Amino acid sequence: MEANNSSGEDCCVKVAVHIRPLIGDEKLQGCKDCVTLVPGKPQVQIGTHSFTFDHVYGSTGSPSTAMYEECVAPLVEGLFQGYNATVLAYGQTGSGKTYTMGTSMKDGSHTGLIPRVMNALFTKIETLKHEIEFQLNVSFIEIHKEEVRDLIDSSSANKQELANGHAGRTSPGKPPIQIRETSNGVITLAGSTECSVKTLKEMSDCLEQGSLNRATGSTNMNNQSSRSHAIFTITMEQMRKLHPGNSNDGNLNDCMTEDYLCAKLHLVDLAGSERAKRTGSDGLRFKEGVHINKGLLALGNVISALGDEKKRKEGLHVPYRDSKLTRLLQDSLGGNSRTVMIACISPADINAEETLNTLKYANRAR
Ligand code: ADP
Ligand code: MG
Repeated sequence: MEANNSSGEDCCVKVAVHIRPLIGDEKLQGCKDCVTLVPGKPQVQIGTHSFTFDHVYGSTGSPSTAMYEECVAPLVEGLFQGYNATVLAYGQTGSGKTYTMGTSMKDGSHTGLIPRVMNALFTKIETLKHEIEFQLNVSFIEIHKEEVRDLIDSSSANKQELANGHAGRTSPGKPPIQIRETSNGVITLAGSTECSVKTLKEMSDCLEQGSLNRATGSTNMNNQSSRSHAIFTITMEQMRKLHPGNSNDGNLNDCMTEDYLCAKLHLVDLAGSERAKRTGSDGLRFKEGVHINKGLLALGNVISALGDEKKRKEGLHVPYRDSKLTRLLQDSLGGNSRTVMIACISPADINAEETLNTLKYANRAR
């Protein structure tokens, strides 16, 4: 088992657009649909502007099934071959990022991308487990104001905090999480909770705990969730069994043989992309906006540098270090890794300006 290093040829970043339907509030306000799909083409029109992407998903049919199959399933397959990958949901607050990713438990019946990833992973593992031993770890963190915070916390002290509505955010005894890079260029998070999971249920429990934690924090902290990046990471280690059939529960970490593969998938619900508005008295909020724009700005620059073939060949510097977000994703953006950005947009005319901004940002990533 060896990751194939020769296939970084085709551009490693794919961009899709997800247009949600008009929702209750917009209908009540009498909003008009101002986004047009071009039939049979991955093209979107708004006003006089027209953009072409790798895929465009409208609000009819079953967009999340098609989106999963076309955009995300290949990344999950790649995980089994040792390729890191990143899925990013970008867009203004309310555009459907959380709904698309499935990062929240509040839309109970809805199946977003993360639950589909989990299902596909465990289904495939089931077919391989007699020959390969798997070790799965998940972490769930958020980046807010250039600070990394844990959304999973298994200690009872923090369960108490969760009950009090301050879960995992302000734990005074907890050292801050640090982003580190090993000599092999592997990015690690020092101090974050890594949950070892064996079943689909255990993995979705981690997602649920983290998303509750995020939601609880946001109501108490001025809707923080719209201003933070939430990153759910699945790390999968594989070791081919020497004697198929024997179950051997050894620790995989030390087995750096050629029969060992390790890859991770980041599923990212980005901060709202709306421009920070200078609302006068609220200087603090403006500062938060500046920080968030720092992550989104750096991400735009990194992805655009990666997509620019000519610059890549000239050995262009990719500015990963400009923000915590890009630093954390460094080993899973570019190189041999695969990236999908899903630009989420509202069709409502009142959001036309932000929708256009989102389409321009996404267009730059191609
Ligand atoms: P964001 O995370 O970008 O702020 P949300 O995912 O919370 O946005 O979506 C905002 C609202 O729109 C929610 O009420 C959500 O249920 C609804 N919504 C988003 N996408 C869709 C969709 N594709 N179909 C139906 N409702 C949607
Ligand atoms: Mg959200």
